[in-house]
Amino acid sequence: MNEATIAKIKERLASLRKLPGIGEKSVAQVLEEHGFTRRDFLKWSAAMAVMLGLPTKFSPLIAEAAEVSDRLPVVWLHLAECTGCSESLIRNDSPTIDNIIFNFINLQYHDTIMAAAGWQAEENYEEALEKFAGRFVLCVEGGVPTKDGGEFLTIGPNAETGLEKLKRTAAKAAAVISVGTCSSFGGIQAAAPNPTGVKGVYQVINKPVINVPGCPPSAKNIVGTILYVILFGALPAVDNFNRPKFAYGLRIHDLCERRGHFDAGEFVEQFGDNGAENGFCLYKVGCKGPYTFNNCSRERFNQHTSWPVQAGHGCIGCSEPDFWDSMAPYEEPLANHKFASASVDATADKVGATILTVAGVAIVAHAALSAIKNPKE
Ligand code: SF4
Ligand code: SF4
Repeated sequence: MNEATIAKIKERLASLRKLPGIGEKSVAQVLEEHGFTRRDFLKWSAAMAVMLGLPTKFSPLIAEAAEVSDRLPVVWLHLAECTGCSESLIRNDSPTIDNIIFNFINLQYHDTIMAAAGWQAEENYEEALEKFAGRFVLCVEGGVPTKDGGEFLTIGPNAETGLEKLKRTAAKAAAVISVGTCSSFGGIQAAAPNPTGVKGVYQVINKPVINVPGCPPSAKNIVGTILYVILFGALPAVDNFNRPKFAYGLRIHDLCERRGHFDAGEFVEQFGDNGAENGFCLYKVGCKGPYTFNNCSRERFNQHTSWPVQAGHGCIGCSEPDFWDSMAPYEEPLANHKFASASVDATADKVGATILTVAGVAIVAHAALSAIKNPKE
């Protein structure tokens, strides 16, 4: 990143700062009320810079971007989903800085948390679309039913289909972010036999979409993506499945704390055995970490305290396309089952699918070899 880029970001942040915020309190005040010091905040922005793959000299700019996050108009649509993504971000008895930043973005419309209802809500929505046309970020939670013109999902007093509402809103958005696995790839609604023809957002609109999958996705990945948009006014670099590389560039397996046990051929054979007590690798009880691209093993959850594998259950691959079908059964290794890379093939370019398939074969071979080498067996 050169000085010209930094100057451009500073200019962008300065112009955002001139826009009205959403409340009387600043981000700094809200953080203070929740017990975070300025030092905590700066530590957080430095960690965010690392996560986004930016040089550390960017951390003051990230702090500034977080401070003006209440100037960024956001329209949040709920399509076919369980609201788990919003719930996981909003309902928190001890919020993290990520949650607070998320709560502070300028949410113009959000079915679940806005006070308005019925016609009033519709009016707010139409107003936001007009007032912030070309400037707002559209976040979508939920897959898009497409069968029979999308009539399996209608929203609001006009009974507009989710498909129509999405297309109409996306046409006016500056950027589109799919929050969660349902909006990214269809999620459980799209599981076989997918009776309502649910698709991911990127499959039904003619605009670049950034996918932030997970069931639910990590607050860090959502906030990181939003901060990136605030900083650069553009979407970050993505992988074959439109996921930001900064968050989904590595497999869970690559940075897992149980990896040493995998390499040594030390596996949990069944839950509750000695291997489980000793923190051995969970591959044989179904961990899909070797097939799953996400940063859970690095960023963890709940203020970095833990994550599923640390808690003793394998990763179920929730940030991968079609994981309901391709990763199941969740407590058995894929070695015993045909890995459904064919369904991955159908929605992504062949390179990603080939890598996954080759990785799958190599891992199965390695797991078998490690098991043979393991002197304890
Ligand atoms: S298979 Fe799962 S538990 Fe084992 S090292 Fe890989 S990610 Fe960790
Ligand atoms: S560990 Fe795996 S299943 Fe769990 S949240 Fe991360 S990607 Fe999803």
